[in-house]
Amino acid sequence: MKNKLRSEQVLTRNQSLVFEALRKGKHPVGAYELLDQLREHGLKAPLQIYRTLDQLIELKIVHRLESLNAWTPCCDAEHDSTPVFAICNDCGIVTECFDENLSSNIQKISKRSGFVADRSIIEIHGRCDQCETSQG
Ligand SMILES: [Zn+2]
Ligand SMILES: [Zn+2]
Repeated sequence: MKNKLRSEQVLTRNQSLVFEALRKGKHPVGAYELLDQLREHGLKAPLQIYRTLDQLIELKIVHRLESLNAWTPCCDAEHDSTPVFAICNDCGIVTECFDENLSSNIQKISKRSGFVADRSIIEIHGRCDQCETSQG
């Protein structure tokens, strides 16, 4: 599906509140952290947060990191490829990367098995450049 929405234009109030909160976070943000931040703006129920996050994922401007149970804004809303998230176990920084070959291999695997992929995300845990260097 082309013709993806550019964030600012079409978001509902709740969507932009949640999206902004994610963008301001240095790290992926959990649902209850969002709830804490957005309570004063009228988002009081976890269900509201979860529903809004689902919508943002649907719009392809947010990703859910399953291993952290947290959400992060997409670094490039135009991508069709499988994002690879490098997650630092020490400082918690998350970097979204892409690899064409990896993406097309994932598509091949799906095609071969007749599986229709809905979405795919790869999460790699380890230590980022900075933490690795400071450890010596
Ligand atoms: Zn992305
Ligand atoms: Zn780190």
